Amino acid sequence: MNIDYFDIESLLSEDEILVRNSVKQFVESEVLPVIEEKYLEGSFPNELIPKLAELGLFGITLPVEYGCAGLNNVAYGLAMQELERGDSGVRSFVSVQSALVMYPIFTFGSDDQKKQWLPKLANGNLIGCFGLTEPDYGSNPGGMVTNAKKVDGGYILNGAKMWITNGSVADIAVVWAKLDGVIKGFIVEKEFKGFTAPEMKGKHSLRASVTSELVLDNVFVPEFNILNGSSGLKSPLMCLNQARYGIAWGVVGAMLACYESALEYAKSRVQFSKPIAGYQLTQAKLVGMITEITKSQLMNYQLAKLKDNGKAKHTHISMAKRNNCDKALEIARIAREILGANGILSEYPVMRHANNLESVKTYEGTHEMHTLIIGEDITGFSAFD
Ligand SMILES: Cc1cc2nc3c(=O)[nH]c(=O)nc-3n(C[C@H](O)[C@H](O)[C@H](O)COP(=O)(O)OP(=O)(O)OC[C@H]3O[C@@H](n4cnc5c(N)ncnc54)[C@H](O)[C@@H]3O)c2cc1C
Repeated sequence: MNIDYFDIESLLSEDEILVRNSVKQFVESEVLPVIEEKYLEGSFPNELIPKLAELGLFGITLPVEYGCAGLNNVAYGLAMQELERGDSGVRSFVSVQSALVMYPIFTFGSDDQKKQWLPKLANGNLIGCFGLTEPDYGSNPGGMVTNAKKVDGGYILNGAKMWITNGSVADIAVVWAKLDGVIKGFIVEKEFKGFTAPEMKGKHSLRASVTSELVLDNVFVPEFNILNGSSGLKSPLMCLNQARYGIAWGVVGAMLACYESALEYAKSRVQFSKPIAGYQLTQAKLVGMITEITKSQLMNYQLAKLKDNGKAKHTHISMAKRNNCDKALEIARIAREILGANGILSEYPVMRHANNLESVKTYEGTHEMHTLIIGEDITGFSAFD
């Protein structure tokens, strides 16, 4: 079923519909059959990696010369939406690889660095992660203490990162560290001496996704591995902007999964004299859900158009990320309510989505951070300090 109350499909090109449908089909045949088990187990379905690569989902908007699909931002968004209809952890895997690893190499790297890493990241032979957050610096990464010191032939990195998606499974980590007080990106390879990435356990959210610490203890990083084009906090924030865009679309997939589940359930669950879908209170919930989904879909589509025309501001992306995550979580909770006790079972996807969305609302800038970003934009006053 395509939930499309305002006929947004009529705005899509054939290619965009094709991308959406092929990712949707992949999620139905390959992700949904395994995801609940993986979620309960607390592991990522690694067997999906080559298939995600085959579908062209890694670095989907980057040029074909690096083995990428070179698609537009509508197609990118629709792909993220369909992936997250399956699970936020699977979408997170692709977001990190694409927006937080391939994008910075493409944007801040030299030609040699692009040739060295992008094709292997595109075909899934290399997995990457993005290390910005630290134990004491989450919403204000500019305060980071991880540092780089220039030495003969390269740099020595010291510090620790936390909450790093794919950290323990990554072959390379884009690590942000201060060099003479200025934030720079470095490619740290998993074999480098002094580098470890222990997995963080005990999550109740994004369980089908690996989250890790990164420990850098006097790690020598050769000159070749510095992303020379990066400079200051703006550089990692540019990467986050790419990922936040994907999240704004992705969470609509989670909304759709929860809404579909709740609608179907409400139509068949009989209490008192009729299906619960026939009661006004349930209808009000379902109408609220489809309305928020439609608003998010429309906002995403226009955002994609702005982005394709080079007119999307980071504040536009903040608004879509902030709103859509918030509404997705609300929808997941209402869907859980409609399913009653069944809503907590793994037989239905809603509790998994609701739990996942707690992380998605927090990472890549919390709801509050995006409020302050937009607040500063519309008032001219910064509330950060
Ligand atoms: C599953 C998961 C995966 C992640 N993956 C990655 C990754 O791959 N790479 C990476 O670098 N990071 C990653 N993160 C980290 C994520 O980006 C941070 O958790 C996020 O930026 C928030 O930081 P924090 O958790 O330290 O919260 P804090 O910054 O400590 O914030 C705590 C609370 O205080 C609020 N707050 C903070 N400052 C203000 C203020 N000025 N005004 C009002 N409220 C405020 C916040 O909004 C929040 O509600 C991941 C996180 C999770 C949960």
